[in-house]
Amino acid sequence: MAKINMKTPLVEIDGDEMTRVLWQVIKEKLLLPFVDLKTEYFDLGLANRDNTNDEITVKSAEAIKRLGVGVKCATITANTARQKEYNLKHLHPSPNATIRAILDGTVFRKPITVSRIKPSINTWKAPIVIGRHAYGDVYKSAEMEIEGPGKVELVYTKPDGTERRVTVADFSGRGIVQGIHNYDDSIRSFARACFLYALTEKLPVWFATKDTISKIYDGRFKAIFNEVYETEFKERCAAAGIDYFYTLIDDAVARVVKGEGGFLWACKNYDGDIQSDMIASAAGSLAMMTSVLVSPSGVFEYEAAHGTVQQHYYRWQKGEKTSTNPAALIFAWSGALAKRAELDDLADLADFAKRLEAASLATIEDGLMTGDLAKLSSPPPKKVLDSWDFIDEIAGRL
Ligand code: NAP
Ligand code: MG
Repeated sequence: MAKINMKTPLVEIDGDEMTRVLWQVIKEKLLLPFVDLKTEYFDLGLANRDNTNDEITVKSAEAIKRLGVGVKCATITANTARQKEYNLKHLHPSPNATIRAILDGTVFRKPITVSRIKPSINTWKAPIVIGRHAYGDVYKSAEMEIEGPGKVELVYTKPDGTERRVTVADFSGRGIVQGIHNYDDSIRSFARACFLYALTEKLPVWFATKDTISKIYDGRFKAIFNEVYETEFKERCAAAGIDYFYTLIDDAVARVVKGEGGFLWACKNYDGDIQSDMIASAAGSLAMMTSVLVSPSGVFEYEAAHGTVQQHYYRWQKGEKTSTNPAALIFAWSGALAKRAELDDLADLADFAKRLEAASLATIEDGLMTGDLAKLSSPPPKKVLDSWDFIDEIAGRL
């Protein structure tokens, strides 16, 4: 059989533990037999990040900027326990945070749905995608404990030394205070990334804040989103048959739970953190959640939403064939290949990406699945498979 050709290489970012093990199996069984795979390979395994003083992470992000599309395996974010375990020289920041800072991105998370796994919210007919702003607010805050009576103020000092002040509170006793911020540029990038993603996926966009209470802070988010929509995206959205809907965050939550799904929910940083866990759990499992980082300049990085599945890896090291679900990793590859196909105008590759997803879903629909899904499947599974047999079943259907 002739293999499917690619034009531009994908940026392939390898990772750690169980996901690194499955990465090779997926390539060997599901990709290399069918596609003349072109990649620029970056080994972000913890040992290599440590050896290269984390330069490999920066290089991989720069390669995505240059080539346009990357696919990333899960990686360990080192802490002191990992430092001991891997005998590390340094404790570098999370690779995802490093890559995100370079690409200036927004993270989109979308559940992979199968009819055997019913969402716990029974009105949902189509998946809800979360678009999470990944900068600022409470994640970049300054906090203080206030030990007793006194006045707390916000002070803005301009370059010429002049000041503006507002009183936060007059304390009569002990308390706490927090200062948060965001930048217009970051909010604008977030809005652009959301509308670009929505156009790609043909999804309506919802955005919600608490601007009735936070008139300046959340009010700015609302105003910038609206401005970006009106000036840059309104006509393109209309042409694609999608619209933009703004409401208050509490109203949005009520509508999400009563609604049918099938939209992109743009969330401020904290809302996105909370609501993506709610959506993933209500939709079934973290192992069935895809994740893509979209930069406003139009480059894409695909990955699984879950981590390196550490405990399964330790069992695999002891010789056990674990029943780790590779679905989100497979969908990271199919998503990246489909985007490459779209950008390079390769119909065969686009078709292959669709078939790869269809074969994966068909295997689960046929009742053959990994242990995590077996617990949720209705009707119950015909067979619970280890990862290797599950991937072989997908390969057979492919
Ligand atoms: P995890 O890898 O997401 O796994 C947590 C648990 O979720 C697993 O123990 C497993 O439950 C279940 N699970 C997750 N993915 C699964 C899959 N594909 N198939 C079956 N079950 C799955 O999180 P973690 O173990 O807390 O973190 C491990 C490492 O991943 C950490 O070092 C962390 O830094 C890193 N991490 C990386 C990323 C990323 O690169 N994007 C994201 C998150 C975490 P059972 O044990 O009950 O089977
Ligand atoms: Mg969280």
